[in-house]
Amino acid sequence: MSRAWIGAILGFFLTATTAIAGDVHEVRLWRAPDHTRVVFDLTGPAEHKIFVLQNPTRIVLDVEDTRLKTNLSDLTLTDTPIRQVRSAARDGDDLRIVMDMSASVDPRSFSLKANQQAGDRLVVDLYDKTATAAKPAVRKTATQDSKRNIIIAIDAGHGGEDPGALGPGRRREKDVVLAIAREVNALFKADVGFTPTLIRSGDYYVSLKGRRDLARKRQADLFVSIHADAFKRKEANGASVYALSTRGATSTAARYLAQRENAADLVGGVSLSDKDDMLAGVLADLSMTSTLDTSLQVGAQVLRNVDNVARLHKKNVEQAGFAVLKSPDIPSILVETGFISNPTEAKRLATSSYQKKMARAIHSGIKSYLLAHPPSGTLVAWNKAQGGTEYTIARGDTLSGIAQRFNVSLSTLKSTNGISGSTIRIGQKLTIPAT
Ligand SMILES: [Zn+2]
Repeated sequence: MSRAWIGAILGFFLTATTAIAGDVHEVRLWRAPDHTRVVFDLTGPAEHKIFVLQNPTRIVLDVEDTRLKTNLSDLTLTDTPIRQVRSAARDGDDLRIVMDMSASVDPRSFSLKANQQAGDRLVVDLYDKTATAAKPAVRKTATQDSKRNIIIAIDAGHGGEDPGALGPGRRREKDVVLAIAREVNALFKADVGFTPTLIRSGDYYVSLKGRRDLARKRQADLFVSIHADAFKRKEANGASVYALSTRGATSTAARYLAQRENAADLVGGVSLSDKDDMLAGVLADLSMTSTLDTSLQVGAQVLRNVDNVARLHKKNVEQAGFAVLKSPDIPSILVETGFISNPTEAKRLATSSYQKKMARAIHSGIKSYLLAHPPSGTLVAWNKAQGGTEYTIARGDTLSGIAQRFNVSLSTLKSTNGISGSTIRIGQKLTIPAT
């Protein structure tokens, strides 16, 4: 055999071995309230190990047969406990990533297999050990002899490395729905007797089960998940409202959508330990039936209000097996605010005026249901029992003037609404207790 031949064969083997090794072609980072997520995008599956070294604290990640094909210095580390990220080749083909930390964390890591929307990934979650991890749940605010507020959990779909549906003009579902969720939050904040809480308050991923857990931890009376979806046909348009189905889906479209939404965990990145083990038992639970009934009624009211601002995709509340709606004891609905895959609708969904309109429709739908059917023990229930009404403060109003007009004492008016000083603002809503 000639030298050239041997060279060629050797060359072939060298290429073959390097082809087996994968690359890290991108590194992305997201900051959540209680952890920092670092995602390594790989060209193929790779084995890895993670461990902590002390003095100074470093998180070390060893990835087998992998090369780094991206620049780690591009990562934005602001507001994270990571000071810097560096890398080195190890044992020939392995890659070592070292994260120098400014605070100690609990590292967890897992691999995600490639799927339709994303390639192989290695996910590292660095959980904060201090303060924010133990952030207290939203307290049921005590007003009027400890009558509590109704708590509304507002869930903006997707987030972090899960952009959700993508529309023309690089519009991303995760941004649109967070903007709408924030508007709904602001509206409930201005209401007497309601305390809103955002399940996702920034651009980071929360697992579907994690969203339900947060709602329960914050003692939510109602859960609303906000989405803006996509469909194969770009003509598809209109808004719809969904509730859980414990059996089959009510339509093919509903089933298709639930499958899409449930796949969020594959894209967003959920560790194996986060898998759902309680569902089967939960669904048999009797409480589910009444929860579902309430969900359908709230959903119908929201649908009626959304009808005023958008074309409805479906005239009735649809049902399918949405994982995010599977809380046994919290009425839960999912609002598809429109199709981001439809060019006209995408453009509209991206404007703040339309986001506000949609938010107002969701807010007033939920609110009118709850004013008519308030959970017991709440301020709203108490006011309803007293025959109380709501009043929106107009220009020129004073608290004493309003008190006089409705024949209530100033102190009752203030205590009913949890006002201590005398500051009021135009547009603020007051509950007028019955006399
Ligand atoms: Zn979605």
